[in-house]
Amino acid sequence: MKNTPFYQFTIGQLKITLISDGQVSFPAHPLYAVNATEQEVKQALSDYFLPTAHYTLQCNVLYIENGNDKILIDTGAGAYLGPGLGRLPQHMLEAGITLESITAIVLTHAHLDHIGGITDHTGKLLFPNAGIYLSHQEWDFWRKASPQISMPIEEGFRNNFRKAAAQNLRAFSDRIVTFSYGSEVLPGIGAVNAAGHSPGHSAFLLSSGSESLLHCGDVFHHPAFDLAHPHWATAFDQDQEQACATRLRLLDQASVDHTFLLAYHMPFPANGYVERKEKGYEWRQAMG
Ligand SMILES: [Zn+2]
Repeated sequence: MKNTPFYQFTIGQLKITLISDGQVSFPAHPLYAVNATEQEVKQALSDYFLPTAHYTLQCNVLYIENGNDKILIDTGAGAYLGPGLGRLPQHMLEAGITLESITAIVLTHAHLDHIGGITDHTGKLLFPNAGIYLSHQEWDFWRKASPQISMPIEEGFRNNFRKAAAQNLRAFSDRIVTFSYGSEVLPGIGAVNAAGHSPGHSAFLLSSGSESLLHCGDVFHHPAFDLAHPHWATAFDQDQEQACATRLRLLDQASVDHTFLLAYHMPFPANGYVERKEKGYEWRQAMG
């Protein structure tokens, strides 16, 4: 299966291109619902008319053109999660965007499926003219030689997260720019506290004129999992309780305010709205 490589729209004066990094399949249980039973997970997938043995997770990178600022929010998985992902460079070229033109990489957080594309598999920086922006909490956590990862995954997998941070962030510490929640990271891009999934996980409010888009990173991952069942935790939540509280707060506000959302792992092109249902939330893909 292959995605359309990119999708373009505008938020006021901001020219947006949503670029697919590709997709990866995981066994249905338990990675994305560690506190649910296998039967509950299979039921959730079949409620969405999806196969129940495996499910597909997508990665979607946002490119923003705002005058001289050429910004990527996150960079895909690079070589860290197999050949289905790591397609950002090729898809950027297909969209007419060169790697050299990027002036800023703004990170929701430093997990390998978001920072892995900063370098190629040899560790070569792919964006020679870009600063790397992340929250100071996130940088404080991942800048250490051996970050204390509490995610319930195998130690070898944890080490891949550490390796990704060393290769894609610590190797370029002279390019790192940190920001605080509530501040403007770059013109038109405000940082929003979304901590829990990782220690300094950030959402970003893009605004221009009367239009806005909230990029909510990994606050939720999949329509049938932590969106339909917001109390389900993923194995990649560093602090499951805080991640759940953040998810409930943000989803509640977004459904009441009809906030236009972009979520990194939603089905391409990953933009839409959430509607509150009896138990959880339903994804409403944006049309047109
Ligand atoms: Zn992710």
